[in-house]
Amino acid sequence: MDIRVTVWNENRVNEKTRGMYEVYPEGIHGRLREIFEGAGFSVATALLDEPECGLTDATLARTDVLVYWSHLAREEVPDSLAEKIAEAVNRGMGFIPLHSAHMAKPFVRLMGTTCTLSWRESYDRELLWSVCPGHPIAEGIPPVTELLPEEMYGEYFDIPAPEETVFTSWFSGGEVFRSGVCYRRGRGRIFYFQPGHETYPTYYVPEIERILVNAVRWAAPAYREESTRTCRHVEPLVSSREEDGHGRL
Ligand code: ZN
Repeated sequence: MDIRVTVWNENRVNEKTRGMYEVYPEGIHGRLREIFEGAGFSVATALLDEPECGLTDATLARTDVLVYWSHLAREEVPDSLAEKIAEAVNRGMGFIPLHSAHMAKPFVRLMGTTCTLSWRESYDRELLWSVCPGHPIAEGIPPVTELLPEEMYGEYFDIPAPEETVFTSWFSGGEVFRSGVCYRRGRGRIFYFQPGHETYPTYYVPEIERILVNAVRWAAPAYREESTRTCRHVEPLVSSREEDGHGRL
């Protein structure tokens, strides 16, 4: 099956995050594109500064899985676009918010909670534990993957109880975090994945690459609905018989 991936990136830097281009000369979206093209997916990239924030209706319509990286500029995404993304997920599009996209508007909208967490930008060591080894996203991933350095994201992470928790992380400051969690919304699948601070080379770690590729395969829809906003009026499938008095067959 040909999977069409759109990698969306806000692609903004400030004083603190300028080092991002040393780690990812082509931008984070450039590195993610490389990973997904290597897996044989059809990949497009989209950026916040493009017309309609890079996500036109046509782009969303031809996206099987939207991979989404955001941080500084999350409030610049219009509510109307967040709504369109949520609607596309409800119709079947896969959605993979990464790292600081935990508070991206479409993710918060789909979760219905604040999605806040505790954090510390330092030189932490992260141990990423595979806690659901039979899950398709964990396929080929060792029990523990070390990431050094990574930004600390800790509990409490204000998300709804995950339908599946595929990864849980420990950080060298003693914190723990539900770092890879799955949801279904409507017909769509969502996987939030925490590793990926912009100035650390996390997206070059082979296990992380594999998790991302596995996640895209898992989130790709079997089919898409045209619309989820209409309730169908239907005739009975079977006719009730008057003689038994209860409408049973
Ligand atoms: Zn970060």
